[in-house]
Amino acid sequence: MSAAAPRVGIVAVSHSRPLAEAAVALALEMVAGDPPPIAIAAGTADGGTGTDAVRVSEAIVEVGAGGAGVVVLMDLGSAVMSAEMALEFVADPELRVRLVSAPFVEGLLAAVVRAAGGADLDAVAAEALGALRPKSEQLGDAAPVSVDRAVDDAGDRADAPPAPAGDLASAAPPPAIAEAVVRNVAGLHARPAAEIAGLVAQRGVALTLATDAKGPVDATSPIGIAILGAGPGTVVRIAASGAGAAAAVEEVRALIESGFGEELAELDAAPAAAAAPAAAAAPAPAPAAVAASAPPHPAAPSHPLGVSSGRVVGPVAVMVHAADEPDPAPRLPADERDGAATRLREAMLAVAGEMHETAQTLSGQRRDVLIATAAIAADPALHREAESRVRDEGLTPERAVWVELGRTAAQYRELGGRMAERVTDLVDVRDRIIARLTGVERPGVPERDHPFILVADDLAPVDTVGLDPERCLAIVTEQGGPTSHTAILARELGLPAIVGAAGATALADGTIVLVDGDTGELIVQPDEGARATATGVITLPPFEGPGETADGHRVVLGANVGAPRDIRRAVERGAEGVGLFRTEFCFLDRTREPSVDDQISAYREVFAAFPGARVVVRTLDAGSDKPLPFLTSDDEPNPALGVRGYRTSRRDPEVLDAQLRAIARAADAESADAWVMAPMIATVAEATEFAARARAAGNRTVGVMIETPAAALVADELCAAVDFVSIGTNDLSQYTMAADRMSGELAHLADPWQPAVLRAIRLIGEAGTRSGTPVGVCGEAAADPALAPVLVGLGVTSLSMAARAITAVGAIVSSATLAQCRAAAEAACAATDPAAARAAAREALAT
Ligand code: PEP
Ligand code: MG
Repeated sequence: MSAAAPRVGIVAVSHSRPLAEAAVALALEMVAGDPPPIAIAAGTADGGTGTDAVRVSEAIVEVGAGGAGVVVLMDLGSAVMSAEMALEFVADPELRVRLVSAPFVEGLLAAVVRAAGGADLDAVAAEALGALRPKSEQLGDAAPVSVDRAVDDAGDRADAPPAPAGDLASAAPPPAIAEAVVRNVAGLHARPAAEIAGLVAQRGVALTLATDAKGPVDATSPIGIAILGAGPGTVVRIAASGAGAAAAVEEVRALIESGFGEELAELDAAPAAAAAPAAAAAPAPAPAAVAASAPPHPAAPSHPLGVSSGRVVGPVAVMVHAADEPDPAPRLPADERDGAATRLREAMLAVAGEMHETAQTLSGQRRDVLIATAAIAADPALHREAESRVRDEGLTPERAVWVELGRTAAQYRELGGRMAERVTDLVDVRDRIIARLTGVERPGVPERDHPFILVADDLAPVDTVGLDPERCLAIVTEQGGPTSHTAILARELGLPAIVGAAGATALADGTIVLVDGDTGELIVQPDEGARATATGVITLPPFEGPGETADGHRVVLGANVGAPRDIRRAVERGAEGVGLFRTEFCFLDRTREPSVDDQISAYREVFAAFPGARVVVRTLDAGSDKPLPFLTSDDEPNPALGVRGYRTSRRDPEVLDAQLRAIARAADAESADAWVMAPMIATVAEATEFAARARAAGNRTVGVMIETPAAALVADELCAAVDFVSIGTNDLSQYTMAADRMSGELAHLADPWQPAVLRAIRLIGEAGTRSGTPVGVCGEAAADPALAPVLVGLGVTSLSMAARAITAVGAIVSSATLAQCRAAAEAACAATDPAAARAAAREALAT
């Protein structure tokens, strides 16, 4: 007796198990003899509605064992996507699989009948494709045309035409397809991936993304999107089906093409078909001071790299990061697997929820970064994979998470550059989920009752949330690069930071180190001389004013306040007052302007901390690097040169006038000496107008910031129009040098030591001296102890800075006479570049 020839296998993929079972039962009724191999991949494991790519792949393998090939019928929407994804999981390259876009019920019937009769793969697929014809002919519709998709034939997708109206499949709109070119320099990294996934999940559409090299991937999976490794210039194919597909595809296309609000790449006219993943452009590495004790991580630069400015000394506190590897051996009994998989899903969602909640309490990049990390924990593809390891292999939930996120981390590492720098985020998500599952407390930022320098393998975004910049003096990590979250967050927190310091975690807790976030220098056990070069040495006591030169020339040393926590710090560090109160923090994260009463209470809090002292309040500086939803438009082609600072009051005068009233009323209620000033003034007319409005609102001492070369050039007239001026060196450097202050690449230009910037400051200082107008500096330059005497010599009468710098700046100012400061200023202005200016000033002060 000869063995029966193998028959084509059929897989029924549906959102609903009852629907699939009924359709298969109906088909089997049509079969007289032995049915072909049939498998159902329908519904979710817990009996819900949905589809699962892993199950589909298992079904394909099961019915394809005979070798005659497999025809897959799907109902609609994400069933199609799951089937497509399933093909990626089928390891056997010999297995021929056809995804057939036939109507589910009719196609299934036709395919089962033909396969039962022993037809070959082509015939079975063709029969399914033509299954609608009898009904269509009877109703007089146009004959349907369907597309046969082979496993390796991704190109057919774009040609799939709409099916006629009248049955299950044709009720769905036609598939929608588009292409987008990735435009942002960093490509589809974690944040853009999370943004796309969030959008697609909201639209509830089955949407996939693919490049020529990779995919398609489920676009609700940020991990899947990131693994595409789509760098700038890559063409991404977007495909969706189901209701709302066309609109969703267009939205995703527009989002990708928009560049996600990030820096855009200069693309050639012809975009790359499959660009390499975005790699981080690392600045020139600084010399290493710590011997490497471990092989460098692929994401780590080969030398320690300073990524956030500042030079401090303090004791090390080492953070232990990774969770212990869960035991690979145990296998769960079959009857415990469903429950374990559910626990796993719940833990992942709980971690995602927790991170999301924390993100809502933050603003700026810290918020974005945390939301992107939360999206990893909520990734539906990750859930599917990890759960199937529990259900199918019997792994413990913690082991399943370990394995799956480990696999993803390996893919990220392989992509290199910015993606490799995100491995820490994956590890953090993994550890949090494991901690939740096992009830073990996750290691985090060490608790210390004294200030410390945090040393870690790498920091995850969430680690830095509770980081108190008053306790944590600096951050040193072994991993990470200039674009890692550690770097971004350290800069945002204003903490000096070094990344890529291989071997740093081997330092004993409490070891004293010097960290320089500019040069990347990390000195273990620095000697007295080295310690004295630090600007934020923890052993320095608070400043004891008044600020003055060695010969008694008064220089008021105040603090900048940009967040409520800065108030306490300013008081503790001995600030003589507040030289810059950035009021934006009262407005950030608001979709509407805060009420006058809300503003009054925020301003009073600052005034109350400095009874009798000067507090310089800056009116809202919205726009450019500080956008506000209700005040600034997000479609300005060049926001730094656009409607920002005082300019916003032309559009919305009432926002400024209300703020001026609130400041005046808050000042009346407290005893601080309240001064008020406007940012981004470019003309004398603006200054005059602002002064009139501020006084009309009840403010007594009124000034303007000088942040534009235009304002510097008319400093004499400005001094005549207002009571004081304050130089914003961050912006003045940016605009004088035409160099974006946010660009690391242009940092050498946007440098207040540039002689051009120093000469602009000299113009202002001279105007102030001539007219007796107080001239402050409240940009970052004021915190540079080497620059402080130069600024004093240029005619500056007050300096306002981050509170931690006051002691060091005060010490330097008090060590030089006014004549020495003037000599240093003259020498620095005469120099040809910043390095020469620094050297010249140093020399002048030493004589
Ligand atoms: C400056 O530009 O120097 C300044 C102090 O303002 P901000 O940094 O807030 O723009
Ligand atoms: Mg400014």
